[in-house]
Amino acid sequence: MATDETLIAGYDGVVCDLDGVVYRGADAVPEAADALQAVVARGVGVVYATNNASRVPAEVAEQVAALGAPATAGDVVSSAQAGAARLAAELQPGSAVLALGGDGVVEALEAVGLQPVVPDADQRELDRVAAVLQGYGKQLRVRDFETAARLLSTGLPWVASNDDATLPLPWGQSPGNGAYIDLLAGALRRRPDVVGKPHPPLYRLALDRLGTKSARTLAVGDRLSTDIDGAAAAGIDSAWVLTGVDRPSDLVAGEASPTYVLGSLADLLLPYAAPTRDADAWRCGSARVVMDGDDLHLEPGDAAAVEVVRAGLAALLARRDGGGARDRLRDGAEELDRLLEADTPRDPG
Ligand SMILES: [Mg+2]
Repeated sequence: MATDETLIAGYDGVVCDLDGVVYRGADAVPEAADALQAVVARGVGVVYATNNASRVPAEVAEQVAALGAPATAGDVVSSAQAGAARLAAELQPGSAVLALGGDGVVEALEAVGLQPVVPDADQRELDRVAAVLQGYGKQLRVRDFETAARLLSTGLPWVASNDDATLPLPWGQSPGNGAYIDLLAGALRRRPDVVGKPHPPLYRLALDRLGTKSARTLAVGDRLSTDIDGAAAAGIDSAWVLTGVDRPSDLVAGEASPTYVLGSLADLLLPYAAPTRDADAWRCGSARVVMDGDDLHLEPGDAAAVEVVRAGLAALLARRDGGGARDRLRDGAEELDRLLEADTPRDPG
């Protein structure tokens, strides 16, 4: 890509994550909505891919649009929809499916012509169930899982929206859908097909919705183990944004390799300054970073923090992927964490 081109010029569609990218809880991520408006104004499609199976797409779109980003219900691709699409491909039209989840699961099944059956339906309806779609649902009770276990014990197809172990809430981490999958799996000694991030079906549904080729589609997200690993598994480029939960030290400690590292979505509209290597030094923009043994020496110059981070990560990842001991790279990675912490208006209040 020529350096006078914006990053987004290389793509026709964006698969955008939500929490940590467009909003954080109830707050907008600075610059995100304006950047997405500018992306869409260039003729690039944007869909929002969410592992949240409990909310219906219209509700998600309303929240996104209220922040000023372009979004209609049709722009939201949920893990519940990916699960319903999977079952629609396997079952006869109109088949009854146990909706073990919230409204998002029920609506997704209806939208593909399957008949959702709730766990407390009468026995005649439950007897017709041909498969189970499991997503997070706050209203689910112990007896609902017992009903699901009884149906699944006969060998019915079992699809789960996502397997996130935890669900972030304002006070901390609550059990996520993955924990409720484990609950059933422990009893059943089998596991479901999972369709949400980091598994490819949600990305395939997003590509269908966008109508773009995988080589011309970019996935954007803040979580390495879901958004970035998922994009790689689906064979599409990824942009890791630093406005969410994962930090440079998480990248160095794990296996993920994002195609791009962005300070925020606004970086989609700039030329991408990729880090380059010069012997033991890495450069990005006017930033220079030198690896001295396992130590990282930062020479930021007047570079933006994200450029220092790109150069630093390139140095550390070269060592990581060359088989270097990860714990010895931790100090350097944490130095990048602190640089971001000091620089970014990450938390407006
Ligand atoms: Mg996220």
